Amino acid sequence: MLEDKNIPKTPIATLGEFALIETLTKSFEIKDSSTQFGIGDDAAVIQHGKDETLVSTDLLIEGVHFDLSYMPLKHLGYKAVMVNLSDIYAMNAVATQITVSIAVSNRFPLEALEEFYLGIHLACKNYKVDLVGGDTTSSTKGLMISVTAIGKASKDEIAFRNGAKEGNLVVVTGDLGAAYMGLQVLEREKAVFQVNPQSQPDLSEYSYCIERQLKPESRVDIKALLKDLEVKPTAMIDVSDGLSSEILHLSKASKLGCQIYEDKIPVDPEVLKSCEEFKINSTTAALNGGEDYELLFTIEQSDFEKIKGHPHLSIIGHMTEVASGYNMVTGLGQQIELTAQGWNGIENKEND
Ligand code: ADP
Ligand code: MG
Repeated sequence: MLEDKNIPKTPIATLGEFALIETLTKSFEIKDSSTQFGIGDDAAVIQHGKDETLVSTDLLIEGVHFDLSYMPLKHLGYKAVMVNLSDIYAMNAVATQITVSIAVSNRFPLEALEEFYLGIHLACKNYKVDLVGGDTTSSTKGLMISVTAIGKASKDEIAFRNGAKEGNLVVVTGDLGAAYMGLQVLEREKAVFQVNPQSQPDLSEYSYCIERQLKPESRVDIKALLKDLEVKPTAMIDVSDGLSSEILHLSKASKLGCQIYEDKIPVDPEVLKSCEEFKINSTTAALNGGEDYELLFTIEQSDFEKIKGHPHLSIIGHMTEVASGYNMVTGLGQQIELTAQGWNGIENKEND
């Protein structure tokens, strides 16, 4: 992370807490009309009018959720915001504000934290959310990041996990498994680098997977897209821990079973190629991999025609009565039970 030893670094101890907060947050402007007051007092003030307010928080710990040996700090800042916005979008809501809290050790000079905040700044700009507060404290060793996202939606728009009905179609956005394969590539290169620091890997053939791991985007577009199609999702969840675990959450919350079809799970060609190389089943990568930040939702069967063939949406199955269980029909026509860990092979990563 701090490769360039020629650029002088500023120990954060020379700034003091207030100067540090001021330095990190001074370039953030308030843009959303619901933000009445942001950084600078004991609390931010938000006015959401008649809408419901949604709040979601996540905590990221160095060595558990991220590895700075291949994760640039700017990307980490961006990803930390994405992870949280994704939870708001998964309620079929609009994200409006975030707060960011950090615990840092003196291993991180000011310049490193500024890099991190550049990523946060870019995420706020791209996704039109205001940074309205946070907390800054010290830690003995690693970096800890907590982001809270705040959003809004009208009461009738909000999609909970428990709203699916028997016979509803199961839809997933984008494609799955790429972030997991990106992680495999990065872990392999890290191991190679430890043996031979001179190695200059050519990672261009994995660019999509690596980008999905290091610079994920969250599905800010889906709420408006569904509104345009005149489709109201009956239940929704984001795919942060792998399709298998998420569809189980949605099914159990809705007190239903589910049936999905392996052939229908959207997987990018680059994922197929890297899975072949790593001897990983691509369905396993999609089911168990995680960190895709796509949305999984259910719709009425009568909405089939509106969604059919949409480039961003794949219908992968349907909801069944609870007694039928949680199943996937494989490409060979075999029925396999879905578990939180997927259905074979790789371990579910502890990333929540
Ligand atoms: P308090 O003593 O009330 O906790 P702080 O001195 O921690 O207040 O924070 C002062 C202001 O700066 C508050 O508005 C707070 O939300 C904001 N703030 C503190 N740390 C951060 C941070 N890391 N990122 C963004 N805003 C922050
Ligand atoms: Mg504080």
